[in-house]
Amino acid sequence: MQIDSNRKRTVLSWLFVTALLALCGVLGALQFRWIGEVSIAERERLRKTLQMSLDRLSSDFNAELWSASQAIVPARQQNLAQELTAQYEQWKKGGHATALFRRIGLAEPTGEEVSLRILDPKQGDLQPAGWPEEWKGIRARMEGRLNRQGQAPPDAGAFGMYDVWSFEAPVMDFGRRELGWVVFELNPEYVRETLLPELLQRDLGAVSQDYQVEVLTRSTPAVPIYQNPMASSIGHTGDAYVSLFDLRIGFPGGRGGGRRGGAGDRGPGPGFGRWQMSVRHRNGSLEAVVARTRMLNLLVTAGVLILMLASVAALFHFTRRAQKLAQLQLDFVAGVSHELRTPLTVIHTAAYNLRGKMANNPAQVERYGTLIQQESGRLKDMVEQLLRFSSANAGHVIQQPEPVSMDAVIAQATESGLAPLAPECVLEKHVDPDLPVVLGDGTALKQALQNLLSNAIKYGTEGGNWIGITASRVSAGSQQIVEVRVQDHGPGIPQDEQAHVFDPFFRGRRAKQDQVHGTGLGLNLVKKIVEAHGGSVAVRSDARKGTEFIVQLPAAPAEYQNGFAHTAD
Ligand code: ADP
Repeated sequence: MQIDSNRKRTVLSWLFVTALLALCGVLGALQFRWIGEVSIAERERLRKTLQMSLDRLSSDFNAELWSASQAIVPARQQNLAQELTAQYEQWKKGGHATALFRRIGLAEPTGEEVSLRILDPKQGDLQPAGWPEEWKGIRARMEGRLNRQGQAPPDAGAFGMYDVWSFEAPVMDFGRRELGWVVFELNPEYVRETLLPELLQRDLGAVSQDYQVEVLTRSTPAVPIYQNPMASSIGHTGDAYVSLFDLRIGFPGGRGGGRRGGAGDRGPGPGFGRWQMSVRHRNGSLEAVVARTRMLNLLVTAGVLILMLASVAALFHFTRRAQKLAQLQLDFVAGVSHELRTPLTVIHTAAYNLRGKMANNPAQVERYGTLIQQESGRLKDMVEQLLRFSSANAGHVIQQPEPVSMDAVIAQATESGLAPLAPECVLEKHVDPDLPVVLGDGTALKQALQNLLSNAIKYGTEGGNWIGITASRVSAGSQQIVEVRVQDHGPGIPQDEQAHVFDPFFRGRRAKQDQVHGTGLGLNLVKKIVEAHGGSVAVRSDARKGTEFIVQLPAAPAEYQNGFAHTAD
């Protein structure tokens, strides 16, 4: 009945654990899929937000150039030079960053040619000047337009590698005839060091620190315009692109602006504008960032699942241990009751016989007396064992340590109390004459050795009647150790029981089957006493050779070694 319900409980526990494991597996798989989906959505969200910020940046940049050029280009068509200088002064007074332009020029047609005057910002007037090399493209475009005045402008609006920093804005009459052009040349230093960093900060906000930013012209070959401090070449590996320097709003028909998809187009991003800004996350790409976050999420989830599994395993383990312990305690109570009843019955019967004058000669009285003495001694030993166990559990394993001679402890353990257990037993004893003194509780040590010796007699004298005890000095590094070995030639301890013999309440199968007296506390007490002395106890057992318990106790410090050694009482 008991076995059946135990088995049922075990099967149920295993079913529960299997169900939990399966649940964890399913949860893990669901979590994996879900995190995947969330990651993709997150990547798209980041990409969209980034693209929106870049579009805003592009509009801001273009608007900056557009509004500045519109403020300066003359509108009244009389004295263009005078008007331009006046507009420029006005614009300067408006608090605008004059550093935006490096040079401003006024180009006016003179016959087939286009003559140029450049603004002197300090004097506030225009000085005739030759065409700078960088404006060669602009000049060619203007002369081209001049020769085709009135016709739709040809492809002269396309910009080339000369137009990296410069652009022209036409001055038109009411018939939309071009009277001249104002040429603007951006100041690269200002664009790189002030304008672009400011716009990045404004439109991307704090995340601008997380991105590598590169601006190149869309011409072939590309001319580098700007790179933020952490950028390396981005090329086609960017997370988002936007074109800059698009002045088509102000220049209808696209003259002076960019064209879409021309041979000079670079990068995957569509758009007009001469420059292209490429942005990539500093960790490689948004994909890499999201993949990393996904990995971290997965690791955390895996960690939580492992923790859950470990908790279940620990719960399972501790529950089984608690069950085992409860069973052991039940066995213990039954065993101890039995152990108490047997000597009590013997004492009771002997006393009854003595009182009823059943023993009518001195030899019989002597026999009953011895029986009462032996059995009450056994009872006393058992009660002492129980008391010591309970006080050891409360933390009082040994008394105040004193220098103890192990020679004397062994002598007392072997002399007292063993003979009645096995009168015919042969005890072989070898004790080194120069054993060092140990610092400890002599009485507790005597009890520990007695437990080992009485076990050797109880379980190890089945096939013979020999037991042995040896004590020697061994050294472990600079530490001196007293090693005591208690041996027998009995049937040994089965392999699967060896790990449990020091557990409280544990009794071997044979001990229970053969109804050998015992409580299952003896070896546990030995271990507690030895460990309280800073020592260790181990067992070696073999069905052919018998059993050996090895106790190692550290020797007392040198100053105790030469004086008087206290003995166990
Ligand atoms: P008890 O002797 O009261 O059962 P112990 O704690 O002293 O409790 O021993 C625990 C178990 O270890 C014993 O029940 C027995 O099975 C086994 N054991 C101890 N000493 C020996 C030995 N010398 N030979 C074989 N088995 C032993």
